[in-house]
Amino acid sequence: MMNFYMPVQVFAGKNAVKDHMPDLLKSFRGPVLLVTGASSAKKSGALDDVLAVLSEQNIKAVIYDGIRENPLLSSCMEAGRMAHDAGCDLIIGIGGGSPMDAAKSIAVYAAYPDLTEEEFYAKKWTAPLPVFEVGTTSGTGSEVTTVSVVTDSTGRKHSMSDPRLYPMASFGDPRYTMTLPLTVTLSTGADVIAHCMESFFNKKANEFSRAAAARGIRLLIEPLKKAENGEPLTLEDRSALYEASILGGLAICVTGTAFPHNVGYFLTERHGVPHGIACAVFLPRLMEHIRRNFPETADALYDAAGISEEDLKTLILGTLPALAFRLTEEEIEAELPRWENNRTVMSTLGGYTLDEIRVMLKEL
Ligand code: NAP
Ligand code: FE
Repeated sequence: MMNFYMPVQVFAGKNAVKDHMPDLLKSFRGPVLLVTGASSAKKSGALDDVLAVLSEQNIKAVIYDGIRENPLLSSCMEAGRMAHDAGCDLIIGIGGGSPMDAAKSIAVYAAYPDLTEEEFYAKKWTAPLPVFEVGTTSGTGSEVTTVSVVTDSTGRKHSMSDPRLYPMASFGDPRYTMTLPLTVTLSTGADVIAHCMESFFNKKANEFSRAAAARGIRLLIEPLKKAENGEPLTLEDRSALYEASILGGLAICVTGTAFPHNVGYFLTERHGVPHGIACAVFLPRLMEHIRRNFPETADALYDAAGISEEDLKTLILGTLPALAFRLTEEEIEAELPRWENNRTVMSTLGGYTLDEIRVMLKEL
């Protein structure tokens, strides 16, 4: 079986915004809501490119720059209502995974400004506004996924996935990622490896998702090694990292993520660990689990990606800073029930028991 549905028009390469956005804007009157973080949309040059294209098309832009890392649902509600009140007919997310994910939830609130939080998560909505994404990190693959990860009013990260959240189009110009600080290059690289491995070692994997996942890892090996060694990255390196992130996104479109992502959210919520790192800390354990129980699948990934298991482990460890905390036993016990028969955790090949998760959290 090889089912997949991926309706996003993807433009990845130099001048993607200038060359391809004008055509797609023809079906919109505006105003358009631009969703950004604090400064990266400007710093990367992406915001200026989008504003130039909108102005050429005589489309008015309204800017919401209140999205922060691990975006809050309350910010999405606020921005959605702003888009509704301004009569916007399109949402454009510009930035890393945080503004891109937020744009998808904002598109829901723009169409349904009175939704309560419960109704939002219960999907009491049908047609969000269309979304364009302009990526400035090379990590989440949010450009091509149905996923919007937002933090609810209790502080918990929810990964909401729905085909209606697919962006209509995505524009990725690797030049925008040239301004990424080293720490973000490493943590987003770790996120890509996590997507590719969690997808490849997933019960729902198929030929297409495995090919995308293995190719994603193959593409990022050399540029990520350079980054780990403190060498400057060329535009070619940045392009490879960006394409790897899109391939990782395509892979998780088919399978979703697995154990490391779901448990990793907790480290971000409680201890502010950057998303990619919070997931990748569990990858060495995932590799051991797969080697022990599914040795042929382990070999299939490392062969297709062109890297030995040992070297991939070293590459992963090179992205990880030392964690500045230990989890207490009380903390672990209080959290464990959330992973009991959790669908995402159980989609990992072989699944995980709560006991196994307890041990991994204690060992961090
Ligand atoms: P991010 O949270 O969007 O951004 C991290 C930091 O990098 C921010 O300080 C941001 O600044 C800065 N930054 C972004 N682009 C930059 C650039 N070109 N130059 C300089 N600085 C730049 O990071 P992310 O790792 O891309 O996204 C993480 C989020 O995505 C998490 O919430 C995670 O749960 C989610 N996620 C979603 C999916 C999915 O499938 N949708 C998959 C994995 C993860 P500003 O604040 O100024 O923008
Ligand atoms: Fe991720």
